[in-house]
Amino acid sequence: MMEKEPCIALLENHGIKPTANRIVILKTLLSSSMPISVMELEEEIATIDKSNIFRTLMLFVEKHLVHSIDEGREGVRYEVCFSEKESIDDDQHPHFLCEKCHRTFCMKDQPLPKITNIEGFSIHSANYVLKGLCPTCKNK
Ligand SMILES: [Zn+2]
Ligand SMILES: [Zn+2]
Repeated sequence: MMEKEPCIALLENHGIKPTANRIVILKTLLSSSMPISVMELEEEIATIDKSNIFRTLMLFVEKHLVHSIDEGREGVRYEVCFSEKESIDDDQHPHFLCEKCHRTFCMKDQPLPKITNIEGFSIHSANYVLKGLCPTCKNK
């Protein structure tokens, strides 16, 4: 029996029907070494129209296959979530946005501050984006 493509398994594990377009979009996200914006994604994929790319991305976010990283005025970037579990996201990590080269780095080895149960509030999401200069820009 032929082994199932990892991309297809990843989609199915998140309850997403693996259509051709979705596979292309997921592959592009996976091939990017850093979180990317919708615009960067559109530049990479010329074969799928922009509204389709956006809709697919929103579906991926909804199904917890993709993290969205809110960078304020810089916009939003996306990355594939590698959480092992469906119920808890064990792949959450802070990000670092370089104010000079505008690249977003994953700080996978940095722990997230733990904030739980603030009386009267219900937390739906959190974004930890650090801003400053990356090593390359700092040494210029
Ligand atoms: Zn930089
Ligand atoms: Zn990341």
